[in-house]
Amino acid sequence: MHIVDIIAKKRDHHELSKPEIQFFIDGLTSGQIANYQASALLMAIYLNGMNAQETAYLTDAMLHSGKRFDLSSIGKICVDKHSTGGVGDKTSLVLAPLVAACGAIIAKMSGRGLGHTGGTLDKLEAIEGFQIELSQEQFLKQVSDIGCAIIGQTDDLVKADKILYGLRDVTATVDSIPLIASSIMSKKLAAGTDGILLDVKCGDGAFMKNVEQATNLAQTMIDIGRHLNKDVRALISDMNQPLGKTIGNALEVKEAILTLRNQGDADFTELCLVAASILLVQAEIAATYEEGYNLAQQALVSGKAYEKALQWIEYQQGNIDVIKDLDQLPTAAHTWTLRASSTGYLKDIHTQNLGLLSMYLGGGREKVDDIIDYAVGLEIEAKVGDLVNLGDPLCVVHYNGELSVEHQTFAQSCFEFSETKVEKPPLILKVIDS
Ligand code: URA
Repeated sequence: MHIVDIIAKKRDHHELSKPEIQFFIDGLTSGQIANYQASALLMAIYLNGMNAQETAYLTDAMLHSGKRFDLSSIGKICVDKHSTGGVGDKTSLVLAPLVAACGAIIAKMSGRGLGHTGGTLDKLEAIEGFQIELSQEQFLKQVSDIGCAIIGQTDDLVKADKILYGLRDVTATVDSIPLIASSIMSKKLAAGTDGILLDVKCGDGAFMKNVEQATNLAQTMIDIGRHLNKDVRALISDMNQPLGKTIGNALEVKEAILTLRNQGDADFTELCLVAASILLVQAEIAATYEEGYNLAQQALVSGKAYEKALQWIEYQQGNIDVIKDLDQLPTAAHTWTLRASSTGYLKDIHTQNLGLLSMYLGGGREKVDDIIDYAVGLEIEAKVGDLVNLGDPLCVVHYNGELSVEHQTFAQSCFEFSETKVEKPPLILKVIDS
């Protein structure tokens, strides 16, 4: 087999076979295929796509390109949830203890934030002492003992994805459904869980800008699961405004903990309950989504979910005094409140730009090795559809150092108003489970 022939085949719109895709991934990880050839094939895939079978073969070859986790010693169904990335997305911090409090096992590997989107690991590290690096033995023991753990993805997981993602980033080929789907699913499958719930974000602050694209990505990942015998389900949720009320690591930890104490934002709480209901069915704790929803709601209301969060955070060496007294979380030296300059209905929030503002102020990473300021971020005071009066707060910026006039103007440009009434958009747009 020759890589040139494989590139030509995809360039000419033909379907690649399993051995051809395996040859490509083997050659890529062994260094026998040059980066320029891999890039040419990526561009051919970007332009001409891959069908469901090819995407499943690619995912399978990628997932075998590195270490795979074996969770079978836990002896129970293990579930995981993955978000395709958004602004203010702290769902995993709530979901892990919430579903574990209901008896499910959630064994989760998460990533760091880059650009306008945040990462679960960075949020957890805003909690003093929290350890995201556990050995496989520690991870398995913790999951068996308390039902949940969130750790960082190890470097040896899905080696092919690291190379491919690096190439996609510099060849304008990130934005391709088969490439995104195989990248996400290979890592999720290598992590060894039996059931995976995908929260596919859709809108200005997400990769997928509309419901059609998001549905297409979700369905592609569900189909990969079907080909590889895994229970994969998806929900599509709105990312045309930040999720919940906060952006930024410590602020999001605070919001997640308040949600676990049943004092959270109503929409965000609903997203957590719906996601939990699906995970509880996947874990075979509940027979129906309705039963799962009720179980999760009881866990929130009774305080069991919050108790589980304390147990989990303590197990991973986080300082739970900080969780009990949220004022001990990292706090910025200054705040500045952006106020409405006229009266009207809030029509649009430029979510990606708000994520970028938080990043510019140090709350996120522009480059992978940037250091994060956990205290920096934004509190969102008005959501789409709200009637806002002149002078009402729109958001509070938490910052250290300087907040320039450019930053203030940029923040202002993120909020757009209408004189006529604007409907509040739904947060959950779809659940896809087959
Ligand atoms: N997240 C991933 O892990 N891979 C992609 O390609 C896009 C988002």
